[in-house]
Amino acid sequence: MYYVSTRDRLRKTTVSGAIAYGLAPDGGLYTPEAIPTLAGSALNTLKDMNYQQRALYLMNMYLDGYSAAELVGFCSRAYGGGKFDDPAVAPVRPVEEGTYALELWHGPTCAFKDLALQMLPHLLTAALRKEGENKTACILAATSGDTGKGALEGFRDVPGTRILVFYPKDGVSAVQEMQMNTQEGCNVGVCSVVGNFDDAQTGVKRIFSDPELKAELAGRGMFLSSANSINWGRVLPQIVYYVSAYCDLMKEGVLEKGDKLNVCVPTGNFGNILAAYYAKRMGVPFGKLICASNRNNVLTDFIRTGVYDRNRPFYNTISPSMDILISSNLERLLHALTNGDAAQVKGYMDSLAEHGRYEVSGGLRRNLERDFAAGFCDDEEAKKTIARVWNERKYLIDPHTAVAMNVLEQYRAETGDATPVLVASTASPFKFGPAVLEALGVSQPQQGLESIGQLAEFTGISAPAPLENLAGKRIRFDRTVEKDHMTDAIREMLL
Ligand SMILES: *Cc1c(COP(=O)(O)O)cnc(C)c1O
Repeated sequence: MYYVSTRDRLRKTTVSGAIAYGLAPDGGLYTPEAIPTLAGSALNTLKDMNYQQRALYLMNMYLDGYSAAELVGFCSRAYGGGKFDDPAVAPVRPVEEGTYALELWHGPTCAFKDLALQMLPHLLTAALRKEGENKTACILAATSGDTGKGALEGFRDVPGTRILVFYPKDGVSAVQEMQMNTQEGCNVGVCSVVGNFDDAQTGVKRIFSDPELKAELAGRGMFLSSANSINWGRVLPQIVYYVSAYCDLMKEGVLEKGDKLNVCVPTGNFGNILAAYYAKRMGVPFGKLICASNRNNVLTDFIRTGVYDRNRPFYNTISPSMDILISSNLERLLHALTNGDAAQVKGYMDSLAEHGRYEVSGGLRRNLERDFAAGFCDDEEAKKTIARVWNERKYLIDPHTAVAMNVLEQYRAETGDATPVLVASTASPFKFGPAVLEALGVSQPQQGLESIGQLAEFTGISAPAPLENLAGKRIRFDRTVEKDHMTDAIREMLL
């Protein structure tokens, strides 16, 4: 199976080429030429497997040129060995009548990024070998919190790689900052940038196109690479947990094979919900895919009107990992919904770059409405949902998951659709302690690491070990640079 650029279908590569080099040279995203479909008996076969075996079976369908033996090793290293604090890796829990949470935060950094970033380093280093690339890959990442820590933890001590993460000095939560600055491993580096997330992100993009630095790195046997979700190696592992969740619900007798299940996903860059879409296209009986946004509701408007318009104010919310106005992975959905019409997709993306806006064709809009629904809520609504779900069900959710739960309530009220729903639960509530404590009505919520213990005490739920242990960790990184001096940090830490 070949992978094509979303902007030029003649630009083809193998899956190892797609994973090794991330972005296509024309700026498009590499996407499978055709989405493989599950055999009629596959869900029954998968039902009796554990998570690692399911990952092997499903990823193998996309990874030509990777041997089964290789993949067995990757799956057990990524998802076995106690890396996840639940043997199911991505367990499904009933929350209320017809609502099931897919808990994606049992990994080492307590957010759903772990499911992909524990696997990506294995896929990437193998892809580099297959492509005959023998330089050391230096992974650069700008992060608003969860991606950076997930990437650090995934790439730590992986031979043939170095990783350096930049975060905005005042743009991440105290817990997220501690998570990054205490990162262990011999090939890792962390640096904060004076400015906001956009400054850090722009700086990283500039570094990628700095010819002088590139030459210096090449002279030392290194090249720059990226770990963000434009890489197919991050989308693929996410398909696994959606198929896995359906199998778990079959196994528990909640669903019969073929029963419909809607999926509701708190969305930012559109990577997570895109994986649900691919699972549906593979043959999992998913109904509506409900795209939930916070006040940065550019996707809600797009799905409802067919107009994508990023010319709007940017809000900082209590669900920061969804504070985003350009959802990169939407480009892959446009590719699928236009049946790979690269000229059409390129036209939309050019318009987005030039005018910050595009409007899709009527045909595409109808396709979009067939598979997707959308909604959004603000911080106050999300907090009320955290309180309601806790008070009524004693189930504790983080602010991102709360956005999804709230949008689901709205969707049900508007449509009367009684199909059962799988809600992607994307982070541990202990990562966002202050906002959750406030939502629960605690009178003096602690702000920093103390919020972890306070939330545990208030709810009687123990915090995940990686967060609980943060307080005792040594700070290894405390470097801050001006946004125009990020290359200095690279030279210091890499050369
Ligand atoms: C990254 C993230 C999201 C958004 O996921 P996308 O794939 O970017 O849509 C939602 N919730 C949490 C907790 C995240 O870390």
